[in-house]
Amino acid sequence: MMKNSGIPSSLIVENLKGVVGDKWVITEREFMENYLKDETPDPIRPKPAEDLILVKPSSTEEVSRILKIANENRIPVFPVGGRTGLVGGAVPTEPGIILSLERMSRIEVDEENLMAVAEAGATLGDLIKAAESAGLFFPPHPGDEGAQIGGLIATNAGGARAIKYGVMRNYVRGLEIVLPTGEILSLGGKLLKNNTGYDLMQLIIGSEGTLCVITKAVIRLFPKSKYMVTLIVPFNERSDALRTVPQILRSGIIPLAIEYVQLREILEAAGHINENWPVQKGLAQLIIILEGSSQEEILSACEGISKVCEANNAIDILLAETPEEQNRILKIRSNIYTALKPRMMDILDVTVPPSSLEKLMEQVDMIASKYGIYLPTYGHAGDGNLHVHIMRKDVESIDMAKKIKEEIYGAALKLGGVITGEHGIGKLRTENISLVLSEKHIDIMRSIKRIFDPNNILNPNKVLP
Ligand SMILES: Cc1cc2nc3c(=O)[nH]c(=O)nc-3n(C[C@H](O)[C@H](O)[C@H](O)COP(=O)(O)OP(=O)(O)OC[C@H]3O[C@@H](n4cnc5c(N)ncnc54)[C@H](O)[C@@H]3O)c2cc1C
Repeated sequence: MMKNSGIPSSLIVENLKGVVGDKWVITEREFMENYLKDETPDPIRPKPAEDLILVKPSSTEEVSRILKIANENRIPVFPVGGRTGLVGGAVPTEPGIILSLERMSRIEVDEENLMAVAEAGATLGDLIKAAESAGLFFPPHPGDEGAQIGGLIATNAGGARAIKYGVMRNYVRGLEIVLPTGEILSLGGKLLKNNTGYDLMQLIIGSEGTLCVITKAVIRLFPKSKYMVTLIVPFNERSDALRTVPQILRSGIIPLAIEYVQLREILEAAGHINENWPVQKGLAQLIIILEGSSQEEILSACEGISKVCEANNAIDILLAETPEEQNRILKIRSNIYTALKPRMMDILDVTVPPSSLEKLMEQVDMIASKYGIYLPTYGHAGDGNLHVHIMRKDVESIDMAKKIKEEIYGAALKLGGVITGEHGIGKLRTENISLVLSEKHIDIMRSIKRIFDPNNILNPNKVLP
């Protein structure tokens, strides 16, 4: 029997089958294993509940009917996307329904308005391809292309290539959502301006599946850049690399991405996927992606950036021009997490004002030497967003990892930062959210949750402490 539900699971299962068809309601544990976890490192990932039903609707109407059944019977519902999240947000932690929108994956590109209308179950990879085949471009690249549109919006994903045009929030122009009570709402549209009342759409972006189920989105695209190049800039000192970042941002050139990596981890990532990393020098490296409408524009931007980097002791700069070479660099960069994950205890996502990045890294180094450990670190340097990793072999217990995490959080907060820039709160960080938000802020969030979800059925006990 499911929590809060007054009726037996078997009747709920029959009702759900009546909505989506027998084939799309799964109750056998062995066929839902992949839906019980996300990409959070194993030692800290929340445990899934036992009594679960996996449901795969094919339309917004079906999502609405499922939520009505769940709401009437007070059954928790866990919306899941690609399960690539890193804070346990999609893990079904209580008996209830796992709701996967993977069958809702249509994408239509509106070339005239430079927008795509995508169903929530389409993947990031699908969106990138659909934009490309229409000669358009979806710039941001949150590492794992298996993430789905619903998940990307629910987490307000960022990733590489967010400097010039922003994170997910800056791309979403419209949403179709289903409230936990089953009502369907349409917010925004194919619009670049919209000042009609309180902006519920912005509230939904980043709400991590706690306020509604996202079923469809209007997403802004950009004309494909005629020229794109990727620079790899090695430095012997990490402080030189990090000091360079705000100087590039002030130089008037706006790259698509400035990523910070360390040689040790990037070589490991390359080895992990049987690739070779093209620059073997320098302890710390910046990966800088530039785009422009003419070769002259790009070359002059490269020259400007090279000057700034060389003034900060950069060694030999590599310029990758072919799309194949650039895709390979991005792929290796995107695999650092995957390479480290089996040995990882936690991945942090602290974010500070970009000019404070060097100071944050100094603090991370001090914490590492205090504990006598190595903290592999990389991140979206242009956004002031660092991923510091606590490795299993270095910590004696989860409590010790927590202490290290809290010291790193403290250092980021002192610099005017936050505990998460892109991964969100999910289940894992609920215990830390009050480090950043006041009691009043959290109270307002609780009141908003009650308005959207009066019976607390949607992704319960996530985000809110
Ligand atoms: C290798 C790797 C690299 C990554 N790099 C980045 C990065 O650079 N930047 C970044 O921001 N993130 C990154 N991530 C984290 C992750 O990819 C993002 O958080 C992504 O947006 C999650 O999407 P998803 O579809 O996998 O969502 P899931 O993990 O399935 O779910 C995440 C949250 O969204 C909710 N949700 C999912 N679908 C819906 C829906 N339809 N309606 C309402 N709520 C929904 C879930 O309930 C959950 O709370 C990375 C992850 C990996 C594994």
